[in-house]
Amino acid sequence: MKRPLIAFGFFAVAWLALDVATAEAAPCLVVTLTGTHGGPQQPFNGLASAGTLIRYGDDANNCGIVKLQFDVGRGTTMRLSQIGVGTEELNAVFFTHMHTDHTEGLVDLVLSRWAFHGTGPKIDAICSSDVASPQGFTVSCRNFVAHMADSFIQSGEIAQRHSEVKERTAGGPSELVNTITFDPRDEPQVVWSSGDVGVSAIRSTHMPGHASYRVDTPAGSVVIGGDAASDALVPPRRHSTSDQVERLAKGADIIVHSVIHPIMGPGMGSDMYPYAYYRQSTATDVGAMAQRDGAKYLMLTHLIPSLGANEQYPFKIPGRPLTDADYRKAVQDGGFTGTIIVGTDLTSLRVPTKQ
Ligand SMILES: [Zn+2]
Repeated sequence: MKRPLIAFGFFAVAWLALDVATAEAAPCLVVTLTGTHGGPQQPFNGLASAGTLIRYGDDANNCGIVKLQFDVGRGTTMRLSQIGVGTEELNAVFFTHMHTDHTEGLVDLVLSRWAFHGTGPKIDAICSSDVASPQGFTVSCRNFVAHMADSFIQSGEIAQRHSEVKERTAGGPSELVNTITFDPRDEPQVVWSSGDVGVSAIRSTHMPGHASYRVDTPAGSVVIGGDAASDALVPPRRHSTSDQVERLAKGADIIVHSVIHPIMGPGMGSDMYPYAYYRQSTATDVGAMAQRDGAKYLMLTHLIPSLGANEQYPFKIPGRPLTDADYRKAVQDGGFTGTIIVGTDLTSLRVPTKQ
C-alpha cells in the first residue's frame, strides 16, 4: 500500500510545480461566431453572414497573439468592431468556399486596412487553388482576391483616396493581400502556421473547391467544417456529413459546423430545392459525427433556417419558426453528449473555460 501513496505524492508535487510554472501565461483559445446567417443574399434580423474568428494567446494578452478569420460573410467587420478587434489585427483569412455568403465581406475588411494601414503588413488569404466546375467554368479564389475592389477602381474611388494619402497604394486593397492557395486533398495538409498555431485543410464537398480546416494550438483544437456535406450528394447515403471532415475532427476539442434542420428536407413542406438541402449537413448528422469524433463542444452556425424566421426565403418553414431547443434536440437525436452551442452572432467559447 505504501508505494502507490509515495508515487501519488511525487506526481502531486510535480503537477503543482508545473502549474506554478505556467500559471502566469496559460495558453488560451477563443472561438467567436462573427456571423451565423446561412444562404445567399436575403438578410434576416440583422444577422451577419458566415464567419468564425479564432484567437489564440495566453492570459497575459487576453488570448490575442494570433487572430484568424474563417470565412468573411456580410457584416464581418461590424461584428469584429463590436468585440474590439480591428481589421488590421487579423493575421489571416481562410475561405471554405467561394459562395457569396462566405466571401462578400472581404472587400469591406481589406478596404478598411488599406485606408488606414496601407503600408501593411499584408494579410494572408488562404483558400483552394483554381478548380474547374463540372459545368465548365472556373472557381478561382485567387481571382476573387485580385479583383475584389475592381468596382471601386472603376468608380475612381481608389485613385481618389490614393491621391489624398500615398500610403493607400495605387493598386488598391488587393495589393495588401498575400494569397496562398492549396489543392484540397482527402488527407489533412498543413496550409498555414505561426509559432504554436498550425492550420490544416482537407477536401470536402459542397461546391467545387470547398475545404474544411482544423486549428491546433497548445490550448486546444478547433475544426471549421464550413458548409461541408457528404461526397454522396443524394440519398441513399450513410449520413449527410463529410467523411473527410470526420477524419479531420478526430480528437478535436471543438467543432464549428454549418447545419440545416431536417424539417427543411424534401417532402416536409419547405419546397426547398433538393440539391440545396442535400449539399448541407443536417444538425442530427453533425451531432452524430461530433460524438464519433469525441468532441467536447459543438458550435452550430450558418443555421438554415435562422432561429425565429418565418421563412428561409424563398422557402417555407414547415410548422412554426425554429427555436434554440429545436436545434438542440436535432443534435441530441444524433447522439451527441457533449456541450451544444446553438450559435448566434458573437457567441463565443473560450478554452480552457475561466473558473
Ligand atoms: Zn453557405
